[in-house]
Amino acid sequence: MAGASVKVAVRVRPFNSREIAHDSKCVIQMQGTTTCISNPKQPKDAPKNFTFDYSYWSHTTAEDPNFASQHQVYKDIGEEMLLHAFEGYNVCIFAYGQTGAGKSYTMMGKPEPEQHGIIPQLCEDLFARVSSNKSPDLTVAATNMNETSSRSHAVFTIVFTQKRHDEMTNLDTEKVSKISLVDLAGSERADSSGAKGTRLKEGANINKSLTTLGKVISALAEMQSKKKKSDLIPYRDSALTWLLKENLGGNSRTAMIAALSPADINYEETLSTLRYADRAKQIKCNAVINEDPNA
Ligand code: ADP
Ligand code: MG
Repeated sequence: MAGASVKVAVRVRPFNSREIAHDSKCVIQMQGTTTCISNPKQPKDAPKNFTFDYSYWSHTTAEDPNFASQHQVYKDIGEEMLLHAFEGYNVCIFAYGQTGAGKSYTMMGKPEPEQHGIIPQLCEDLFARVSSNKSPDLTVAATNMNETSSRSHAVFTIVFTQKRHDEMTNLDTEKVSKISLVDLAGSERADSSGAKGTRLKEGANINKSLTTLGKVISALAEMQSKKKKSDLIPYRDSALTWLLKENLGGNSRTAMIAALSPADINYEETLSTLRYADRAKQIKCNAVINEDPNA
C-alpha cells in the first residue's frame, strides 16, 4: 500500500454546560465530508469550507440522523486500522485539538458501553477476532500493551504478533504490527505567544513537541506537493515526533482525528485546528507489511 495518505477526520462535540450558560452559538456546520466554519465576528463573510475523509457531527444526540456515535467513529477509523494491523502494517491513530474539544472522549470515552472510545473498542474487537480465529496454524499474541504518558501526551501502544506455521512447506512466518493510539496534549499550548515567561519546563516541552509536530506535518506536506525527497523533516526535534516518526510519513497506516469545539468563543482555535488537519491530509506514508519469513 505504497503512498497511502493519512486518513483525516474531524469531529465536533456538543456544547458543554459553560457554553450553554453563555448562550454560545455553533460556528460549525457539516455536509457530507465537508466542514464549514463561520466567523462569528464577520457574519457576512462566506464560511470557510474544508473537506476531510470524514466530518463527524456529534454536536447533537443519537436521535439526529446525522449524529456520529462513538461506534460510528470506531467502525470507520478504528476497525479499518485494526484490519491493517491484522494484515501486518504498523498503524497509528492520533487525536489532535484544543483542550476540552473532545480528544480523550474520542480515544478513551466514558465507562458506559455506548460511550466507549476507540481504544477500548479496538482492544475488545482485537481480542474478539483473535479468540474467534479457528485456523489451527495461527499462535497470535498481543504484547507489551502499555500506556506511556510522555508529558501530557498519552500514548497507548500494542505490539501485535501473528505467527503462522505452514504445514506444506514447514515454514514459520511472523507478522508484527505496532498499534499506536495517541491522545495528544491540548494544541492551544503550541501557541508561541503562550510559551513566554515563567512557564514550567514541562509546558515548554509540550509546546515544543506540538510545534515540532506541526513543522513535521508542514515539511511532509511540502515535500509531497513538490514531489521531492527530503531528509530535512525535523523528527529529532522533539520526543513526540521521534516517537511517532514511523507513523508520520514512515512505515505506517495513520489516521488523525481533529476534535473541534462548536462554540463561537473558540472560533480562532477551531479554525487553526481545521487548518492543521487540512495540512495533514497531504502526508503520504509508505507502509509495508512487517512479515518475516522463517521467523
Ligand atoms: P480533551 O481531551 O480534548 O481535552 P475531552 O475529551 O475531555 O476533551 O472532552 C471535554 C468534555 O466534553 C468531556 O466532559 C467530554 O465527556 C465531553 N465530550 C467531548 N466530546 C464529546 C462527544 N462527542 N459527545 C459527548 N460529550 C463529549
Ligand atoms: Mg483529554
